[in-house]
Amino acid sequence: SERVVIVGGNAGGASAAARLRRLEESLDIVVLEKGENVSIGTCGMPYYVGDAIEDIDDLLVQTPQSLETRFALDIRTGHEVIDVDPEEKTVAVAHDGDTETVAYDSLLLSPGAEPIVPPIDGIDEAGNVHTLQSLSAAEAIRDRVEAEGTERAVVIGGGYIGLEATESLQEAGLSVSLVEMEDHVMQALDYEMAAQINNHLRDQGVDLYLNARAESIDAGDSTTVELADGTAIPADVIVLATGVTPRTELAEAAGLEIGDAGGIVVDDRLRTTEDDVYAIGDAIEVTDCVTGEPAHVPLAGPANKQGRIVANVIAGREDSQNCVLSTSIAKVFEKTVAATGRNERALEAAGIDYEKSFTYSMSHASYYPGAEPMWIKLIFGPEDGRLYGAQIVGGEGVDKRIDVIATAIEFEKTVFDLQELDLAYAPPYGSGKDPVNMAGFAAGNIVSGVVDVLHWHDLEDLDPTEYTLLDCRPLEERHDDGEIYGTRKLPLSNIRDRLDELPEDTTIVPHCKAGLRSYITTRILTQHGFDAKNIAGGYELYRAAQ
Ligand code: FAD
Repeated sequence: SERVVIVGGNAGGASAAARLRRLEESLDIVVLEKGENVSIGTCGMPYYVGDAIEDIDDLLVQTPQSLETRFALDIRTGHEVIDVDPEEKTVAVAHDGDTETVAYDSLLLSPGAEPIVPPIDGIDEAGNVHTLQSLSAAEAIRDRVEAEGTERAVVIGGGYIGLEATESLQEAGLSVSLVEMEDHVMQALDYEMAAQINNHLRDQGVDLYLNARAESIDAGDSTTVELADGTAIPADVIVLATGVTPRTELAEAAGLEIGDAGGIVVDDRLRTTEDDVYAIGDAIEVTDCVTGEPAHVPLAGPANKQGRIVANVIAGREDSQNCVLSTSIAKVFEKTVAATGRNERALEAAGIDYEKSFTYSMSHASYYPGAEPMWIKLIFGPEDGRLYGAQIVGGEGVDKRIDVIATAIEFEKTVFDLQELDLAYAPPYGSGKDPVNMAGFAAGNIVSGVVDVLHWHDLEDLDPTEYTLLDCRPLEERHDDGEIYGTRKLPLSNIRDRLDELPEDTTIVPHCKAGLRSYITTRILTQHGFDAKNIAGGYELYRAAQ
C-alpha cells in the first residue's frame, strides 16, 4: 500500500495522521517523532509550571498507544528524521544510535518551530534557564518552582507564552520579574492597547521591565539576570520566551524553498517545492489574509487545520488554504487580551493606509450583575471601511467578540457590516447593541464623515493656537480620575447653553472618559458651525498610554 511518512507527531502531524486514516483505511501511515510523546497539550504547558494544571499526564491529550489503537498508525517515538532525499523519496531516521532509511510515497513535514535563544552572555552556563518548549522543560521548571529556596523568577520575553508563564509562576507563590525588549508586552497589539496590560501586570505585583534587554546571566552563588542598563535581577529560575523560528534544517537540506518570512514555502494545497513533499504548522510560512504577504504564524489553530487540509489533499480530495488571519487570545491575570488581523505596525510596514476606532463597552447589559468593560480597537480602510484588524482588552466576553470580528475580517467585510450583525442578546450575555455593533457604529461614523477624530498620540503636538482641548466630563469625574493639562472644561450636560464661551477660530477637540460623551459633544458643536474633532478613546486611553 502507499506510505505516508509524517515528521513530527504533535499538533499538525497528529491531526493530519488521524484525518488521513479516517479517509483511507488502506494507507500505511508512519509518524516519526523525535520526542517521547505525541499529541501533547503544548498550549497547556504554561499552566503546568505553576500548578493550575496539577498532573503532567493531563497534558497528554493522546498517547502513542491510544492513537495507534484508534487510528492504526505506525507511531515511532524517539525517532529523529535527520535527512530527506526527495529524489529517492526516502528519509534517514536516527533511533537509539542507529540510522535507518524509510521510504515514502508522500512526505509531510510538521517539525514545528525552534525557540529563539537571544545572545545573552552566560546563558549556556546557567543551569536554571528554560525555554517552555517541551514537556521535559515544563517539568524542569515545575521542579525548580517546587524546590526549597525558590522564590524569584525572571521571565524574559513578554509575548503570550511569557505572560502566561508569569501569571502561572506568580500564582505558584514566586515573585516574578518580566523583562521585555519593546515598550509594551504582546506585540500583536499596538501600544495603547498593550499599555493596559503593562499597567495590569504592575497592578498584579509583577516587576515589569520594558525597553529592557537582558544582556548577561551571572550564575554565581545566586543567579542574576543583568540588563543592558546595569540593573541586576536575582533569579532562582529563568524562563526564556523570546519567540520561535521555523524549523527548516531538514527542508533546507532537501533543497526545498524557504521564503521571506523564514518558513518553508508551500502553495495553497500545502505542497512544498518538491514533488510529494508537503509541510504544515509552525515550520511553514503562510499568506496573510489582510496584506497578502508571507507571514509566519506559529499558532495551534492554523497547524491543526492545516493538518486536516493536507490530509485531504494527500488523499486526493479537493481542499486548500487561502490565507491565515492570525487570531490570538491570552488570559493575563484578570484580563483577557485578544487580537486578529493586522496591527498598525504591520499595516505601516505593508504600506497600507488605515484609520482606527476605540470603543469601551460592557460585556453584557450593565444592569445585570457581573458585567465587565472591554476596549475594542478596530483598524480599517479610511475610505471603504474594510476591516484590517481588531484588538480587544477586557474580561468576560472578549473571546466571543474577537471571534465574531475575525470571522468578518476573514470574509472581507467592512465596519458597516459589523453594524448590522444580528448577535445573540439577553442581559446576562450582551446588549441590544452588542460591543461588536458599537465598534462598527463608531468606526462607521469615522468612515462616513459623521465625526472627525484625533487620537491620543496626536495630543502631544497640537498647536494651542489652532486647537482647543475641551473636557466634557462632569467636575466630580475630572476630580476623581485626573485630567489632561491645559484643557477647557465644559460638561456635556450644559454645553448647548454655553456655546458662546467657545472660540470659533480654533478646532475644538472634546474628550470624555472613553469617547462617547465627547462624540455627542462633537456632533453638537459641528451642527452649530464649529470645527470639532473627537478624541477617540478619551482620557482613559490617553492616560493608559502615558
Ligand atoms: P509542534 O506542535 O511543535 O510539533 C512538532 C513536533 O515535531 C514536535 O513534537 C517535535 O518533537 C517534532 N520534531 C521536530 N523535528 C523533528 C525531526 N527532525 N524528526 C522527528 N520529529 C521532529 N498556540 C495557540 O494557538 N494557542 C496557545 O494558547 C498556545 N500556547 C502555547 C504555549 C506554549 C508553551 C508553546 C510552546 C506553544 C503554544 N502555542 C499556542 C503554539 C502551538 O503549540 C504551535 O503553534 C503548534 O504546536 C504547532 O504545531 P506543529 O505541528 O507545527 O509543531
